[in-house]
Formats: sequence, structure tokens, C-alpha cells
Amino acid sequence: MNNKVIDVEGIIINVKNYGDTSKIIDILTKEYGIIGVMAKGCKSLKSNLRSVTDKLTYATFTIYFKKDKLSILSEASVINNFSNIKKDIEKISYASFLIDLTNQVYKQCEDNSLYDLLISSLIKINNNFNPLIITNIIELKYLEYLGVMPNLNGCSICGSKNVVTLSSDKGGYLCMKCHTNEPIVSDKAIKLVRMYTLVDINKIDKLDIKKDVVYEVNNFIDDYYDRYTGLYLKSKAFLKNIISVKK
Ligand SMILES: [Zn+2]
Repeated sequence: MNNKVIDVEGIIINVKNYGDTSKIIDILTKEYGIIGVMAKGCKSLKSNLRSVTDKLTYATFTIYFKKDKLSILSEASVINNFSNIKKDIEKISYASFLIDLTNQVYKQCEDNSLYDLLISSLIKINNNFNPLIITNIIELKYLEYLGVMPNLNGCSICGSKNVVTLSSDKGGYLCMKCHTNEPIVSDKAIKLVRMYTLVDINKIDKLDIKKDVVYEVNNFIDDYYDRYTGLYLKSKAFLKNIISVKK
């Protein structure tokens, strides 16, 4: 792309202050990946950019795109202002983590399909679906992009279909024969992990899953991320605190 004005759908994933009145913003766009833009004067009271230059702003952005330089944001028209997320500190924490995670995963794979996954998950959280389940679904799907999917077709060690538990240490499902001292999770948790990798987030219309089972799956995913992804996100540490208080 050469220098030109573009209208592009995107979401703000990172914001840095620049001087007293401006910001430098990273926008994950639907079509062009991450674009860095300068929002000149956006912190001044009369700026038309004042309300559309925070993390989580999901909009159609009009950008003066400059090849190999910082582009300039000229205006933005909000698509969904995620008002339910913004009024709930817990939902904000989930959204913030999903944005940070998407940013990191995008940097590793530069795959534009991450954009749709992120937007779909934020819409579901804004529509009051259980944010932990939605987050776990995204985390599992992203493992594919990171190239470290757990083995969920059969036992991770011998391939047997007679699966009895999940083990992040062994890399996924585990059968009775290969099982040593790993805790046994419920059958529902075993099935859910696989279902999470396959489900189309846009098509979810209810999530009726027992709390204990949700946490079994979450524990597996957290432990798996710690072992295999090399990602450390402050927003995840913050989220873990919130989850441990609620358990
Ligand atoms: Zn086995």
C-alpha cells in the first residue's frame, strides 16, 4: 500500500501518550494487520478524536496511510461501543486480556483471521455470555496459531481413544494406561476442551456449563499456556486474581 487515505474497520489494541495532547495508537485492522497511527491533539477537549482513541475502540477509522512511516488518524466512526463491557470491571479485564493476547499472537503469526475471532469474542462478552468460557475458547483456538495445539484426538502418548483425563504436562488427552498421578477431570471437561477448539463463536447462543467444569477446563488451559507458549501478560496475571477470588 502506498500513501493514501483509507477507511478501515479495526480495533485499538495499544495506546501510548505522545506529548501532552497526542497519542500513538496501534490499530488491529480487518484487512491490513496492525497499523500504527498518530492521533494528533486527540486529548484536547475540542478534538473529534477525543472519545475514539482509547483501547477497545471498535470503529471504522479514516487514516492517512504513510508507507514506512507513522500514519495519521483523521476520524473514526464507532461500530459498537461495547457499553456493557465498559461498565463492568470484570468484563473490562477479560476484554483487555483478549486484546493483549491477540496482539502477541498476531505478532507471531500475522494472520488476519485473528481479527474476526477477537471481535466475535468481544461481542459475546458484551452480550453477557460467560466471559471466562469465551476467553478459554479464544485461548484454545489461538494455540493453533502459535503452533502448539494440545493433542485432543486421542491419548497424547499412545493414541488410545480411551481417554480419562487432561494433562498439560503430557500435552493433551491421557488414557488410563498412560495415566500416572495426574488428577482426573470430569468427562464433561474432556469433551468441552475439544468442543472449544471446534465451535464457531458467532453461533453460540447459550452456554450452560457447570462452574466446576468451567474451572477444570480453565485450569488446563492456564497451565498449558504457562508451559508451551512463552507468553507472559500482565493483564493475564490480573485476570487470574479475579478468577481465584470468584472460585
Ligand atoms: Zn495412552
